[in-house]
Formats: sequence, structure tokens, C-alpha cells
Amino acid sequence: MSTYAIVGAGLAGAKAAQTLREEGFTGEIVLIGAEQERPYERPPLSKGYLQGATEVAKVYVHEPGWYAEHDVRLLLGVAATAVDPVAHEVHLANGRRQPYDKLLLTTGATPRPLPVEGADLEGVHYLRTLADSQALRAAFAHQGNVVVIGGGWIGLETAAAARQAGCAVTIVQPGPTPLYRTFGPEVGEIFAALHRRHGVDVLLGVSVARLEGTGHVRTVVTSDGRSLPADDVVVGIGVAPNHELARSAGLEVADGIVVDASLRTSHPDIYAAGDVAEAMNPLLGRRVRVEHWANALNGGPAAARAMLGQDVVYDRVPYFFTDQFELGMEFSGDIAGHDRVVYRGSAESLEFIAFWLREDRVLAGMNVNVWDMTGDIQALVRAGQRGAAVDPARLADPGVPLGDLLPS
Ligand code: NAP
Repeated sequence: MSTYAIVGAGLAGAKAAQTLREEGFTGEIVLIGAEQERPYERPPLSKGYLQGATEVAKVYVHEPGWYAEHDVRLLLGVAATAVDPVAHEVHLANGRRQPYDKLLLTTGATPRPLPVEGADLEGVHYLRTLADSQALRAAFAHQGNVVVIGGGWIGLETAAAARQAGCAVTIVQPGPTPLYRTFGPEVGEIFAALHRRHGVDVLLGVSVARLEGTGHVRTVVTSDGRSLPADDVVVGIGVAPNHELARSAGLEVADGIVVDASLRTSHPDIYAAGDVAEAMNPLLGRRVRVEHWANALNGGPAAARAMLGQDVVYDRVPYFFTDQFELGMEFSGDIAGHDRVVYRGSAESLEFIAFWLREDRVLAGMNVNVWDMTGDIQALVRAGQRGAAVDPARLADPGVPLGDLLPS
């Protein structure tokens, strides 16, 4: 009987195990995770669960009994320390070795530590795990002063949750707008304005010099000399992919673990998916590493099918979503290389679609408080990647169905 091992018991790993069974794999499946928790989804940790709106039972990928029912062996609370691609073994922190015929690495990413003095004080939080989210929820319940360092996804979503919990919130963001790299200046400004309307102090072009306090953080000192009172600090300054196992095993690693369009690494029996995988995306014509929920949700199953020998081409349009205050949005595509942004509807109304274009080809679209648009937006992105241009005036006109803009 062959054994398929999966290192990384998050969404990508759990969905891969599920897909292996759904596709009829009858061999042994071993899912290995460093945390004690069974696999859970991360979006609620910075949204519904953090806000107290989603119960903890809803964050898990499967019911507790699912793994035994599907004969998936869960090894939790044990880190993988090495992969031996020649012996086909995973070395575990408990001294055991797990043999495999095929291996999937879904090892995810780790928050980047804040590189300043005082970052190890109590009250300085990161948000990656369920336990982190629980700790933040308890901290926000005190309704104190919260300083959020980083105006990316974690920063904005936790700032909204803290504000809604009644905290006084300041965001410290070095870039010219929040989400500057993801959306560019115009659209990033929409998120700054949203947070300011809700009483969040958004400091742009400012970084953190040091944190001060005795034992517990009390003050965040900024690069421009401000002293911000802080009962709690949330650090959301990006993540680093967990590719050490792959690197030490001699696999090709660049920013992430390098995989082809079927999510296979430079070793034929080892695959990678989720945040850690830097995958060749044939649609975009280049390798991308996508750190979002949908990539774990879809990448795990794609890798599982490839492990079973199916002909897999993983060419999804990158997709992500957020909910912050009254703004809900979905984004599809990649803005790299855009030369203009076209709005369908007004950004002030918070009901619009923004499109990023290059030479009138749609590279990406973001629907804000307008729903059931993802299919049409992704079709426009796919058409744009194939070289089809749209008329920007018609793209901006809400009276023209998006489907009418697709090449016939
Ligand atoms: P992120 O989205 O990459 O944002 C990092 C932010 O930190 C950027 O605004 C960056 O500003 C700023 N920054 C970088 N170095 C800094 C420093 N030394 N001091 C202060 N700010 C600094 O990363 P994240 O917010 O930490 O999120 C972590 C991961 O979770 C990401 O992979 C993210 O995609 C994922 N996530 C996704 C969602 C979602 O899809 N809705 C929600 C939560 C988390 P500059 O751009 O100016 O450098």
C-alpha cells in the first residue's frame, strides 16, 4: 500500500487529504501538523471570529470525526524537522521517521518579526493562529489603546475588529497608503478613508522606531518622533514562507518552493501548495506565490490530483476577499504592470467595481459591495491575459453587462 504524506495541517493540507479520498485513493494518508489544533481556516481569525460573530466550531475545515472516518492519520503537535528525498522519509521532532511514496508540502508562512527594540514586550501580538486570534479578542475586550503596525491585510482587518470592539486604534503604515503594493495609490486611499471615517487614526509614511514599556508595552515611538500610547500592539508586517524543509532537502527554492503548473517541485515525488508554493501560473505566464485563502483552498486539491497522476494545470486567477466595517470586497487578478484604473460606479458610494488595465486589457478587478461579479471579472482577466482589449468607456458604464465586453 502506498503512503502519501502531507506536511502542514492547514487548509491546503486538509483539502488535499479530502481530495485524495474523493478521487479514490485507497492508500495511507498521513497529515502532519506542528500545532495541536486540527486544520482550520484563517479568514475568520481576522474577521468573524475575532469580532465575536463566528463561533469557534465554524473555523475548522472538517468535523473532528472526519479524519478517522476517512482513514486520514492526523499527526498533530509534531513538527517535521527534515525531509530525506532519497530515503523517502520525513523526520519528525519526536524522533520518528514517516516514510512516504509521495509528499505534499503545505507548510505555509510565518509572520515577520518586528525588527525594533521593545518588540518582545508583553502586549505585542501577531496574528496567524487560532490561539493568536483568541489572545487578540481578549485584548480588544479591554477597549484600550491599540496600535496596529502595518497597513496590509492583517493590519486593516484587526484595526476594524479592534475599533468595533470599542478600542482607540492607530495604524502605523510606512507606505503612502494602506495596501499600497496590492492596489496602488488610488485604491489604497479608499481603505485609509474608510478607516478614518470610523475613527481610526491612520498614519501614513511613518514607521516604528521602538516600543517602550516595563515588562508590558506602553508606548510606540514612531520614526517621526510621536509617542503613541499603547495597551496592545498588533504587528502585521507580512509573512515569510516556511520553505526550510524544502531548501535543506535540496529542492529548488526561490521566494517560495518552486513548483511547476502541476504543483510538482524539482523532485518528482514531492509537491507543494498554498502560501509556501511559488507556482508557475500559465495564465499569468510567470511564477507567483499567492498568500491567500483561495490559493490554499484550490491549490491543495490541485496538488492532490497531480499526486494521483492526473493531468493538472493550476492556472487559477488569484482571488481574495475582505470585510472591513461596511466594506466587503472580492478581488481577482494581479495589478502588476497596470497603467490605469477604471471605476464602474463611484468609489465614494462604496458600491463599485475597480478595474486595473494595461493598454486597455483588464489585469484585475475588485468588486466592492457589488456581488456575484467574480465569474465575469475573472473572464475579463482571462481574456485580457490572452491579449483582448476592452473599451474603457463601456467598462465604466454600469448599464453595459460585463459579459457583453468579452470577446465573442
Ligand atoms: P501584508 O498584507 O503583506 O502587509 C504587510 C504590511 O506591513 C504592508 O502594509 C507593509 O507596508 C507593512 N510593513 C512592512 N514592513 C513594515 C515595518 N517594518 N513596519 C511597519 N509596517 C511594515 O501582510 P500582513 O498584513 O501581515 O498579512 C499576513 C498574511 O496574511 C499575508 O499573506 C496576507 O495576504 C494574509 N492575509 C490575507 C487576508 C485577506 O486576504 N483578506 C487577511 C489577513 C491576512 P509597505 O507595503 O508600505 O511595505
